[in-house]
Amino acid sequence: MTDYLSAIRDVPDFPKPGILFKDITPLLNDVELFTAAIDELAAKVEHLRPTHFAAIESRGFIFAGGLCERLKGGFIPVRKPGKLPWKTYSESYQLEYGRDELQIHTDACGPNDRVVLVDDLLATGGTANAAVNLVRKTGAEVVAACFVVELAALKGRAKLHGFEIHNLLCFDD
Ligand code: AMP
Repeated sequence: MTDYLSAIRDVPDFPKPGILFKDITPLLNDVELFTAAIDELAAKVEHLRPTHFAAIESRGFIFAGGLCERLKGGFIPVRKPGKLPWKTYSESYQLEYGRDELQIHTDACGPNDRVVLVDDLLATGGTANAAVNLVRKTGAEVVAACFVVELAALKGRAKLHGFEIHNLLCFDD
């Protein structure tokens, strides 16, 4: 078993009081662990023959980049409004307080494409669900979602339907 746990740093009250932030930068800083993380995620989704990896800004970009190189898929950035230069689809979603929005390029993928969604962490699932809806707007199929960390108590999985969901580390409390 790879010891990812020792490379995830708990930061209390960041970015707001009451949030226990799971900081993945120690994992990124350890090339053996980072390589193991990419290898393990790649092994979990390779059988799905993904054509693209859709990465959620910004920490999702890091892992999706590695997966694209390893499994020879295209990289799709899913970003906050105003960041993508071309024509976009938008999807707004509920946050604990207020709403947020994500965008994807309309020509990032399309029918016949098999897309794996990538982010560092699954919490309530609102962010990932918005990204899934964006990929589906292009006509592409979402075949899996991959996370480094899943916070199971927040029940994000319950918002995600129709594809495999993978993590490297799952916290139950
Ligand atoms: P959610 O939409 O609630 O599933 O939140 C997932 C998104 O917010 C991901 O892009 C994470 O990077 C970030 N996030 C949410 N909660 C945390 C946390 N406790 N530690 C680190 N990142 C988090």
